[in-house]
Amino acid sequence: MSNELFERAKPILNQIQQHGYQAYYVGGSVRDYLMQRPIHDIDITTSATPYEIESIFDHTIPVGKEHGTINVVYNRENYEVTTFRAEEEYIDHRRPSDVHFVRDLYEDVQRRDFTINAIAMDTDYQTFDYFSGEDDINNGIIRTVGQPTERFEEDALRILRGLRFQSQLNFKIEYHTYNAMANQMEDIKYLSIERIIVELKKLISGQNVAKSYHHLIELKAFNFIPYFQNFEMHQLNIDEPIHFDTWIALINSKFDEQQPLSPLKISNKEKSHIKQLTTIINQLPTINTKKDLIMMVYDFDINDILTVIELSTLLSKNQFETPNPLIINPQTIMESYHQLPINERQQLAVNGSDLMQYLNQRGGPWVKDVLRQIECAVVTKQVINSHDEIMKWVDNHVEI
Ligand code: ATP
Ligand code: MG
Repeated sequence: MSNELFERAKPILNQIQQHGYQAYYVGGSVRDYLMQRPIHDIDITTSATPYEIESIFDHTIPVGKEHGTINVVYNRENYEVTTFRAEEEYIDHRRPSDVHFVRDLYEDVQRRDFTINAIAMDTDYQTFDYFSGEDDINNGIIRTVGQPTERFEEDALRILRGLRFQSQLNFKIEYHTYNAMANQMEDIKYLSIERIIVELKKLISGQNVAKSYHHLIELKAFNFIPYFQNFEMHQLNIDEPIHFDTWIALINSKFDEQQPLSPLKISNKEKSHIKQLTTIINQLPTINTKKDLIMMVYDFDINDILTVIELSTLLSKNQFETPNPLIINPQTIMESYHQLPINERQQLAVNGSDLMQYLNQRGGPWVKDVLRQIECAVVTKQVINSHDEIMKWVDNHVEI
């Protein structure tokens, strides 16, 4: 696997070392490198304090200085450099009461969640692996650093992180780690929904989601998470990786479309995407004619429609009504899409004021109504998109 990202970051580690401090790559990047998976970002851990890092480099950003994290900007890229730290007692099952900086790598890796995430590596690609993380990587095992009960007691997010690593990496969860997850799941109720969602998004789109999702159900995780706790989540089984928005749309469609999404604290953009997907899931099975399909393709994002089509096995396994594959399949969808005479209302050859003028009527709700009728007629090619043809069609078809 490519070590390009490590090579690019190397001068930063070298510079820290030249000032007499230790510096290592650590966390997900080292794990992914050893697993020969693509590496997305590099975390650097160091014995230098944030102030010392700031004095070594010209361009730094104090993103989380009090927790020890400084971003070093090097060759226009941001590198997260975090001081070795140890954590004081945890409060509320989610955050340490205090952190303090230490000069010893061992203490830093000891506070990390899983053995596979606690391996440090120097610029010569030599690993410092105090908890046999490499063995666990080779055997495909997720195991906490230290006693799982204690570690989950400190921060319950680690329970969900463990399940999401299982989903992403296709690993098994070590027996004691799993038992502690089972016993302590309730503590996830203390976590912020934002942190939970970060993990669920990664879990639901992981290659081994079938297993992890089953665990979430079995360990009753959803009973303790806002929004999800409103539903009989065990009635929905996810056994293939899907996008988070698609998952929420399935839940919406299966249980209660009116349920507000606000407890999830996701962006408005995500919420409207979920609503679109929900409507598509509900409407696709009601489509019986080519004309209906054309309107669907016009009204909704083509990629969202294709996403729902690709779900058909999952949908039928979960007793959803599924679209008729003779009328609706990727080919008919693409054909209909390419033959659309217009893609949005703005492209119609007439607008509301044209209509009011032509019919000599004042504005009102009828305008929107008639525009929609015209839109459907143009999209389904009952009339061509020209001002005169449309007005002729209005004369013959529209009653106001
Ligand atoms: P990803 O590839 O998804 O980024 P990651 O392992 O890098 O996975 P991050 O959330 O980026 O995960 O965290 C970086 C590292 O910080 C982890 O590898 C782990 O060593 C440590 N870490 C993160 N969250 C926790 C936590 N809740 N408890 C203990 N250690 C943690
Ligand atoms: Mg990471």
